Amino acid sequence: MAIVSSNIDRSDSRSSGEKHRTVDPSPIQEEIGSVREDGLRPKHFSDYIGQTPLKDVLGIAVKAALGRGEALDHVLLYGPPGLGKTTMALVLSNELGVKCRITSAPALERPRDIVGLLVNLQPKDLLFIDEIHRLPRVAEELLYPALEDKRLDLTVGKGSTSRMRSLELPPFTLVGATTRAGSLSSPLRDRFGLTERLEFYGLQDLKAIAQRTAGLLGLVISEDACFEIARRCRGTPRIANRLLKRVRDFATVRDEGAVIDSRLVDEALNLHRVDDRGLDEIDRRLLGFLMGVDGGGPVGLETLAAALGEDSATLESVVEPYLLQVGFLQRTPRGRVITARGKSHIASKEKK
Ligand code: ADP
Repeated sequence: MAIVSSNIDRSDSRSSGEKHRTVDPSPIQEEIGSVREDGLRPKHFSDYIGQTPLKDVLGIAVKAALGRGEALDHVLLYGPPGLGKTTMALVLSNELGVKCRITSAPALERPRDIVGLLVNLQPKDLLFIDEIHRLPRVAEELLYPALEDKRLDLTVGKGSTSRMRSLELPPFTLVGATTRAGSLSSPLRDRFGLTERLEFYGLQDLKAIAQRTAGLLGLVISEDACFEIARRCRGTPRIANRLLKRVRDFATVRDEGAVIDSRLVDEALNLHRVDDRGLDEIDRRLLGFLMGVDGGGPVGLETLAAALGEDSATLESVVEPYLLQVGFLQRTPRGRVITARGKSHIASKEKK
């Protein structure tokens, strides 16, 4: 696989020194740019599990582009972290038989960063820009003519002697990834021929992902054990893979037998305080706090953050989405409220 990584900078998602959560859907420090995570990535549509509607749409687009001998149209992939956007960009480059250059928008700070990438593209290459909603204004403006007319408009020289020069670019494909499609400027959004959303994965797909990763890691694991990982990984392949690695550590130390079973998975993940629905300490503290409030809320975000000693932006963007998705929490105009389902989950944990 031809991957050229350029200035990958995903470190901004978390302040340095902050403790990571086992169930964080973003890559943790040891996974950023990691060969270990890359080694687990599917390389073709055939081993990219789930996301069938996405694969169907992109599969047709790839076949059509190959048939016409053209570059694939620009693709925007959006959805929560860890669902396979980067992986899909690499799958597309493999299926198309072209190189994939990977970068992240915050790394394209100076105009020359994006210019350097664009002028080095070979015909039909794929350029992957992660977190594309964070693209600096100058980079975005350089991209517009590049995407539309395969042209790079550069200002050469300074002051009164400066003039505009246009460079012709080879046909290429931009694959943009974002967790926030709404934050993209509309001129940028409009330049993507294909805009596709990635969905959280269902249990059967997650089980298959755990089985595939276990195979790659050389683990002997029962089907039930993979299902247990599927139940606890918050619909997210990256978390499934990480949980599996924690289970592998536990199994290595325990050295109980050849096969990893669901009991061992349960013990290993309890040790990391990841419960049977994939909730961790901070999720449970949040729900527990709301449960202690009359009627289970509403409590304003700032009050909740102060009570838990967490930052409100982290609560809103990292902690709450999964609690909302599983129906344990509700956002109302007056604040956050725990649902009946959330209450019964917390009550069942308190009984234990
Ligand atoms: P994103 O770019 O959306 O944050 P990634 O593409 O980096 O997510 O995926 C994170 C990890 O999850 C990858 O290392 C890959 O091993 C795994 N993964 C993602 N999607 C799939 C899938 N459909 N099938 C199997 N593994 C997947």
